[in-house]
Amino acid sequence: MDSHNASPFVPPHHDGEVINGREHHKLIIMGSGPAGLTAALYAARANLKPVILEGNVPGGQLTITTDVENYPGFEKGIMGPEMMEIFRRQAQRFGADCRFEFVDEVDLSQRPFKLKTDRGNLLSCDALIVATGASARLLNLESETFYMGYGVSACATCDGFFYRGKEVLVVGGGDTAMEEANYLTRFASKVTLIHRRDVFRASKIMVDRVLANPKVEVIYDANVVNVIGDHSPVKSMTGVVLRSTKTGETWEMKADGLFIAIGHKPNTEVFHGQLQTDTNGYLITKGKSTYTNVDGVFACGDVQDHVYRQAVSAAGSGCMAAIDAERWLEVQEHHNAGMSAVG
Ligand code: NDP
Repeated sequence: MDSHNASPFVPPHHDGEVINGREHHKLIIMGSGPAGLTAALYAARANLKPVILEGNVPGGQLTITTDVENYPGFEKGIMGPEMMEIFRRQAQRFGADCRFEFVDEVDLSQRPFKLKTDRGNLLSCDALIVATGASARLLNLESETFYMGYGVSACATCDGFFYRGKEVLVVGGGDTAMEEANYLTRFASKVTLIHRRDVFRASKIMVDRVLANPKVEVIYDANVVNVIGDHSPVKSMTGVVLRSTKTGETWEMKADGLFIAIGHKPNTEVFHGQLQTDTNGYLITKGKSTYTNVDGVFACGDVQDHVYRQAVSAAGSGCMAAIDAERWLEVQEHHNAGMSAVG
């Protein structure tokens, strides 16, 4: 999959015009987390009239968290879903067109790019911003979903602070689990790391750091098979049920928090074979820009960042993608104007 430059001449289309059965827009943004909605805000203020196809989880990963205390500007903290609603309204104020649709097909082989949504709507665009994010891998337990945000978390950086003096569990055996276990010892009185095998996948240096930390205890060869807790007066988890992967024996363990750290999955399936990814499936962007290997397609947020994964860094890259797309579209328009004058 080489970088390609689709035909440089793009016939001038108008926003919302139906061309060959497709509703055409200058700029479409896929995804509605901090990256997508910040790109929407900047693009709308640049008068690009962006259409945002919000995807399966409108508002993105922040909608499964509760308090967000590390987003600058909200000095008293804010609930994740509420913050994303503010992001959306701010973008809509400048004309962003937010639609609750999920893109299930894209064709980036030539411009205009073609998209199909789960509602069967056909669209096309001159430029595309991909902000489809990543999803934390979860254990797929009903109880885990029930207590998500009420003791269960997939992000220690986001939620660790709430566990000062408490006892927490971390599930996983990779670098993320090691990093989160260590990080959580800043707040928690005790961190128990639970791994399904007796050998860690994580790098030696990270494992050594965890094993040397007096606040961390490790339980090997066990899976979390249930999360238990109270519903009233306040919903909160109180512990988990563990099952030995060796003997099948189960037992209960008390804990105030459970951090799932079994990896993330970038949401890039729909671009398979069209956009360049690294070995873990994250989109590759060029240098410090948001350009992908396809001219006119830009990527921002967690779909291209497995390192920082923060709302504020995602929002920053969303701003960059909108500016990159705006400048790129401007160059195309000049080019088209030149071609029309020659023609
Ligand atoms: P990994 O895929 O490396 O590890 C996932 C871990 O979760 C594995 O130990 C796996 O167990 C376990 N696991 C997976 N599914 C389940 C399940 N259903 N139940 C219980 N356990 C499960 O993901 P990471 O997020 O840890 O790392 C992703 C990438 O990011 C890696 O390349 C890593 O090196 C990198 N990274 C680097 C960091 C750094 O250098 N500072 C920090 C964080 C990440 P098993 O081993 O049995 O398969």
